[in-house]
Amino acid sequence: MSSAAAGTAGITLLGATGSIGMSTVDVIRRHPDRFHVTALVARSQVARMAELCVEFQPRYAVMEGAAQAGQLRELLQQRGCRCEVLSGVTAMEQVAAATETQLVVAAIVGAAGLLPTLAAARAGKRILLANKEALVMSGQLFMDTVRANAAVVLPVDSEHNAIFQCMPADATEDIQRAGVERILLTASGGPFHSLELSKLETVTPEQACKHPNWVMGRKISVDSASMMNKGLEVIEACWLFNARVDQIQVVIHRQSVIHSMVQYRDGSVLAQLGNPDMRIPIANALAWPERIDSGVAALDIFQVAHLDFAAPDLGRYPCLGLAMQAARAGGTAPAVLNAANEIAVGAFLDKKIRFTQIATVVEDTMGACPPGSAQSLEAILAADEQARAHAMRQIHKRG
Ligand code: NAD
Ligand code: MG
Repeated sequence: MSSAAAGTAGITLLGATGSIGMSTVDVIRRHPDRFHVTALVARSQVARMAELCVEFQPRYAVMEGAAQAGQLRELLQQRGCRCEVLSGVTAMEQVAAATETQLVVAAIVGAAGLLPTLAAARAGKRILLANKEALVMSGQLFMDTVRANAAVVLPVDSEHNAIFQCMPADATEDIQRAGVERILLTASGGPFHSLELSKLETVTPEQACKHPNWVMGRKISVDSASMMNKGLEVIEACWLFNARVDQIQVVIHRQSVIHSMVQYRDGSVLAQLGNPDMRIPIANALAWPERIDSGVAALDIFQVAHLDFAAPDLGRYPCLGLAMQAARAGGTAPAVLNAANEIAVGAFLDKKIRFTQIATVVEDTMGACPPGSAQSLEAILAADEQARAHAMRQIHKRG
């Protein structure tokens, strides 16, 4: 296989057919001298997966379901592609831990990414983390697993990648000693930032998915509109940078040019800027500590001209407040928050509940599922399941 040329790093791409997956593929395609694809994982987009397999000739391709795996196998046979097609979560865990793989890009959306990402941590891989929900659910357990197995986590989420770039390499173990005082986590405010509050009740999934600055998957687009995404990112930042919730300040910055900032004891504030294109953080994480071409045009600061900042209004964004509450409560509270949100966002996308009911369902579920210890995977998965069941009952009642 020419793509697996000696000396290039093998990549397992979890969530290959999604928005992050396709941006990753675009960067990898530019650097055949550095990377080759070992395994691709996706849920249901068989045709797109077939194209990727033909182009990158991975050793393994995994679909969530056996039926999709069967369809993919057939397509690949017709096209003379000899990659091994598997299905199911165990196969995803196996390819995340495969010896041929050095880099695992965790870009499955939602809790479904937890088990394969944890398997990569257990196998001591370099993990490029986009799948924030996995970390939100299992923060302590995940970071403990990373440390115990000498795995490395490199943030792909644009804000966390920016923070990472603004900190000294070893700062994350002890940000106090590194002189970090605050993390300024930027947020665009989403498509409903200036909408009259009374109109929020009637917004449609199509409107929610029309983000002003980023093109993303549907779930994270809705999370951006409700700012639950920023709430999940606060929790993500606490774990990645060993920070307390009160050290993180969310800042509305409509232009999405600054991707986050770090404020130091001496009054310095470091920021990372760039065009809003996920290929920048992806390229940064893929090549770290080196720098490679991401395919993104240089930032034209004269065209940007202005940068605006404002504090978020928790009345407009109740999901952000709920996430901060879960972050402070700790234990299984973030897993409950995340599970309820996934169910509520799914129901909103299916037009079963209103946009404003996402927060109601999450709040109600958090009230009904008090946090317990999140020390074991079993406890986390049980909390996730209980919260999903409760959120679904709420939605049926409302629907
Ligand atoms: P997406 O919906 O576009 O893609 C999701 C991918 O996950 C697809 O390849 C899908 O096949 C796969 N997938 C979904 N369920 C699966 C399952 N059960 N088993 C196996 N594969 C499954 O989502 P996205 O926008 O690419 O986001 C992916 C992750 O990255 C999310 O956690 C999101 O929060 C995070 N993220 C995305 C962006 C962005 O710009 N899109 C930015 C920062 C972080
Ligand atoms: Mg982000």
